[in-house]
Amino acid sequence: MLIDTHAHLDFKVFDNDREEVIERAFKGGVEKIINIGTNLESSRKSIALAENYRNIYASVSLHPIDVEKEEFDFETWLKLAQHKKVVAIGETGFDFYHKSDKKKQKEIFKYLIEIACKVKKPLILHSREADEEVLEIIKNSKLPPMPGVVHCFSRDFDTAEKFLDLGFLISYTGNITYNEERANSVSKIPLDKIMVETDCPFMAPAPLRGKRNEPLYVKYVAEKIAEIKKISFEEVADTTTENAKKLFVL
Ligand SMILES: [Zn+2]
Repeated sequence: MLIDTHAHLDFKVFDNDREEVIERAFKGGVEKIINIGTNLESSRKSIALAENYRNIYASVSLHPIDVEKEEFDFETWLKLAQHKKVVAIGETGFDFYHKSDKKKQKEIFKYLIEIACKVKKPLILHSREADEEVLEIIKNSKLPPMPGVVHCFSRDFDTAEKFLDLGFLISYTGNITYNEERANSVSKIPLDKIMVETDCPFMAPAPLRGKRNEPLYVKYVAEKIAEIKKISFEEVADTTTENAKKLFVL
């Protein structure tokens, strides 16, 4: 069984068939799904999904690319973070690919780290063209007891190691099936530091690249990891599932 540790099932693109998508995943070998909120409305929707499905959990955040679109009220977010089915805070970090205000991104990132510490839940880090800056912040911050995970990882092993040294896990999406460069850290990172995710509706794995992604396809990510590490699919599924259960206390 697999756990899709990063899905955006609250997005509009699933409005017509959300239930079917979820059913397909649970029938097709996905045991649990963590749905990631990206702004206030999306975080509330994630919690609602988690309340409706026993095996869906939520993470809440104001995404780095959304920081200029709404006000951030610390108490409101702290309250959401305390919900019993919220298992993580994020995705948060820096995104220097999209042009949202860097100062604002930093401010929100720090607030969300503070909230994660208060509720003792792990962080889900988003780092796009910004590894150095993300590392700088987390190195100099008090972190939650189990610090968290870097999601959608596709950089080199040296970068991965810096996050591993700070206690973070590494999570892979379908983009490791696109080319060898994106997958080049997989062989060197121990399996007990790895989780799998879809980041759906984005990052559909190679056989479906360009199409809408969904939690069922997390199996292609696990398959690719098994192929690179020359181990069985079951071993990847079992260990990554165990890692997710431990980190998110599922
Ligand atoms: Zn995401």
